[in-house]
Amino acid sequence: MAAPSNFPVPIPDFDAEEFWAGCNRGELMMQRCAECKRFRWLPRSMCPFCNSLEREWIKASGRGKVYSYTIVTHPVHPAAVSRVPYNVVQVQLQEDPDLILVTNLVGIANDAIRIGMPVQAVFEELEPGVKLPKFKPA
Ligand SMILES: [Zn+2]
Repeated sequence: MAAPSNFPVPIPDFDAEEFWAGCNRGELMMQRCAECKRFRWLPRSMCPFCNSLEREWIKASGRGKVYSYTIVTHPVHPAAVSRVPYNVVQVQLQEDPDLILVTNLVGIANDAIRIGMPVQAVFEELEPGVKLPKFKPA
């Protein structure tokens, strides 16, 4: 079990509660409009396509590809000082090209990351009861 970190932890609101609960179960849950069936990312109350307030949650495969990335060399938070340099990656999920998550790649050197490389979700415990979605090479 991970020790408490000094990193800011997600504070699940009503719209994203199921996303974060899924992460803690090891599942990537994506919100989808129950009317027009388009995914909503970020999770939100109203569908930006049809204005419906109805939602459903779909367990995504966790498979995707690197859409873009950067390497952070200047820590933007005191808790990140010991982690630089680290990567910040946009992962495009295979379920929908509009599902692009901002995350980190693990299990790979920063200089080996390539746009388009296939990746798979993993869930890393930031601190007890808080898991974050990350990705590893598939
Ligand atoms: Zn809709």
